[in-house]
Amino acid sequence: MKNKEVNQNRMEVIVSLAKRRGFVFPGSEIYGGLANSWDFGPLGVLMKQNIKQRWWKRFVEQRPDMVGIETALMMNPKVWQASGHLENFNDPLVECKKCHSRFRLDQLPDGKKACLACGGPITEPKQFNLMFKTFFGPSEDQASTVYFRPETAQGMFVNFKNIIDTTRRRLPFGMAQVGKAFRNEITPGNFIFRTREFEQMEIEYFIKPDAWESSFEHWLVEMRLWLKDLGVAEERIYEHEIPEGERAHYSRRTVDIEYEYPFGRSELYGLAYRTDFDLKNHMEKSGQDLRYSDSETGEKFLPHVIEPTFGVERSFLVALLEAYREESAPTADGESDTRVVLKFPKWLAPIKVAVLPLSKKANLSEKAQEIFRMILSDYSCEYDETQSIGKRYRRQDEIGTPYCVTVDFDTLEDQQITVRDRDTMKQERIAITELKNYLQERLNS
Ligand SMILES: [Zn+2]
Repeated sequence: MKNKEVNQNRMEVIVSLAKRRGFVFPGSEIYGGLANSWDFGPLGVLMKQNIKQRWWKRFVEQRPDMVGIETALMMNPKVWQASGHLENFNDPLVECKKCHSRFRLDQLPDGKKACLACGGPITEPKQFNLMFKTFFGPSEDQASTVYFRPETAQGMFVNFKNIIDTTRRRLPFGMAQVGKAFRNEITPGNFIFRTREFEQMEIEYFIKPDAWESSFEHWLVEMRLWLKDLGVAEERIYEHEIPEGERAHYSRRTVDIEYEYPFGRSELYGLAYRTDFDLKNHMEKSGQDLRYSDSETGEKFLPHVIEPTFGVERSFLVALLEAYREESAPTADGESDTRVVLKFPKWLAPIKVAVLPLSKKANLSEKAQEIFRMILSDYSCEYDETQSIGKRYRRQDEIGTPYCVTVDFDTLEDQQITVRDRDTMKQERIAITELKNYLQERLNS
């Protein structure tokens, strides 16, 4: 099969698995959906939480030089004037004169100024601002227009003084925020890769101006380590230095971390050197002194900023793509068939343990329920007693559950259970009293 077909197929397989098993559903589906919006189901929300918690632990809790913050989704519109978003956060939009399809100019093949849908002639490009507008309060006049934030960054910049005053942090230090952002993309698509509503995990790291190069390198390394933790293979990661002229209006150096998706190589995360662009503009527009005073030299200056940005949904998507495997596995009758398994890093798996009584017989169910309740307070667990044990193992493989605990008739006699490992499919017989330790050793890393 040609590479392109395999890749196309791989994306469809992931989208279909995500829907079938309750990771991701099309948004507003019973009404025919809403262009490229998605809802996260029971497993999806667990996985998303795992990503955000792991990230927060790594970049905020485990670092003495970081603080967390959570700022409002809607801010004073002057913020977006100062940040340059009102003026510059645009995409060039063209429209087909015949079928009225709309495209981003830079998506048309080089030099071809024709409609991608029907080949018809297109209009001159006009600048389309990507911020969503709405009205704050009951009147719909110009004065009450606000914007949904297109990035979480500005909420951090406008709180710079509050953080300095309340935490007495010295440079270098960073602020981190996880939260939703909104961009009215002209052409969203590729499942959860590009959506109009998405979640960011973002850091603004404040430094002395002459430290920017070493800090930039530090964060590049940190981003690589995070990707490794997420289970992403190095050979599908690329660091793309964005040339001058293509960088965002605030950036003096940007590296896009790209990933080899089934639909082609494209951006995953970004690392930008924002200089003092944001603090300088907020100081000018707000009239507030946002300078930092160096306690040693007494000097007052505006810190510079390194900004690593991680998308939650893109992390989710690459983790799914990387974890997905089709393997040949033996069946109960000595044949072999294909098993689908999500080989997530254990911390990422939405369900950590499945408890499976060998049959639905009352005394087995009762024992299995008892074990299920015993570990439920420590791990996300599932209890399943329908269908054959082989089919239940495969169901758990398909959602990436690292351990299955089986309760059989011997259990009632010897107080032992069978633990099956997702990756090796090896089974081990252990005492019920050992189970908590057994799981702790293997899952709490
Ligand atoms: Zn057209």
